[in-house]
Amino acid sequence: MVFSSALGELSEATPTQIVQRVRDAGIVGAGGAGFPTYVKLRAQIDTFLINAAECEPMLKVDQQLMPRQAARLIRGTLYGMRATGATQGIIALKEKYQPAIAALTPLLPSAIRLHILPDVYPAGDEVITIWMATGRRVPPAALPTSVGVVVNNVQTVLNIARAVEQQYPVTLRTLTINGAVAHPLTLTVPLGTSLREVLALAGGATVDDPGFINGGPMMGSLLTSLDTPVTKTTGGLLVLPKSHSLIARRMQDDRTVLAIARTVCEHCRLCTDLCPRHLIGHELSPHLLVRAVNYQRIATPQTLFSALTCSECNVCESVACPVGISPMRVNRLLKQQLRASGVHYEGPLHPADTMAKYRFVPIKRLIARLGLRDWYQEAPYQHIDWQPVQVVLPLRQHIGAPAQSCVKPGQYVLRGDCIANLPESALGAPVHASIDGTVTVVTDQAITVVRG
Ligand code: SF4
Ligand code: SF4
Repeated sequence: MVFSSALGELSEATPTQIVQRVRDAGIVGAGGAGFPTYVKLRAQIDTFLINAAECEPMLKVDQQLMPRQAARLIRGTLYGMRATGATQGIIALKEKYQPAIAALTPLLPSAIRLHILPDVYPAGDEVITIWMATGRRVPPAALPTSVGVVVNNVQTVLNIARAVEQQYPVTLRTLTINGAVAHPLTLTVPLGTSLREVLALAGGATVDDPGFINGGPMMGSLLTSLDTPVTKTTGGLLVLPKSHSLIARRMQDDRTVLAIARTVCEHCRLCTDLCPRHLIGHELSPHLLVRAVNYQRIATPQTLFSALTCSECNVCESVACPVGISPMRVNRLLKQQLRASGVHYEGPLHPADTMAKYRFVPIKRLIARLGLRDWYQEAPYQHIDWQPVQVVLPLRQHIGAPAQSCVKPGQYVLRGDCIANLPESALGAPVHASIDGTVTVVTDQAITVVRG
């Protein structure tokens, strides 16, 4: 491989060293899932894919980090390729991210290419990104490695580069604050900063009775307390009037969701016709699962088990259903029951729908459908050196076992010190201090550090 000097110096870390440094740095999937990244890097595959679609309409993180840190992103991709033995790297992004394309293109080594995704939702669902960027279809319930691919998002790969080159852990998070706020913006803060402080940095809410979503409008969850800390997987804070349908729908309890599903389904099948997983050939058919709420005894176990393959992309609830049913919430409830029973799904991969690529949702239409036209803002990146007085660092910011505290109240820690860890054999990620300060509280859930 030939590298331009603009790319910067590459570490000579071996694949084993890369995996270890990524593990020690506590890197997890920053796209939301929080899967420990070192586990992905242990796979041997041929394609290392960077998911830079960022298709949640109000989030503006990856598209603004890419032009600012293009060389680091490519170096991180090269480390990922070295660790996994991949012979090609793909950065999958949208044509509208022109500053990113302009910054990345002159730096690309021959083994890495850009792939331009359509501006549709959910182009950033990893299974859909793989299909769009490589033509390969991940079978239902299988991992991307089954088709020779490992996927990571932009912030994860930037963290990989930092861990490999500087052996520096994850202590910061970049996120977007958007919607009904005075100054919508994207910024980087120490992990553990409260979302209340983050909201204040965006000038506060501009509506009298605001509701809050932790993440984007499609996959984000209802935020019940602004004391919630920013974690390794926090993509954004979306502020809307509490009366907005995106807040009101999330406030519906499970009983109400099931009652609506039982009474008003028209069996129109639109939810299935637009379900991205169904479109690429998975068995998942949300209209059958909604029907199963009423007629569970006549639904086959296979039909019920397919709920486990729902990505919770929210297309069926927010875009497809004309009568206000949430097949996604029905699936979520089914998943809880099935997982508690230890059920695993294995199912066929049917041919993809020949009209699939026309059935994804154009982002402009999605914004209108979600009632976000009045709240959509560009949220430009601003460098703010935010120094919180206190951070609360959850011990589980990842999939797997919670990290175990290795500090005590009263102990002084420096930013970057490991404060909670796991045995090497356990799936999970260590947690590091994000500010210099004194540990004041240690619980099973979180560690509090106060500056000074
Ligand atoms: S949330 Fe709905 S549309 Fe999305 S994968 Fe699940 S069933 Fe399909
Ligand atoms: S889109 Fe709504 S009404 Fe139509 S089948 Fe699906 S759940 Fe029923």
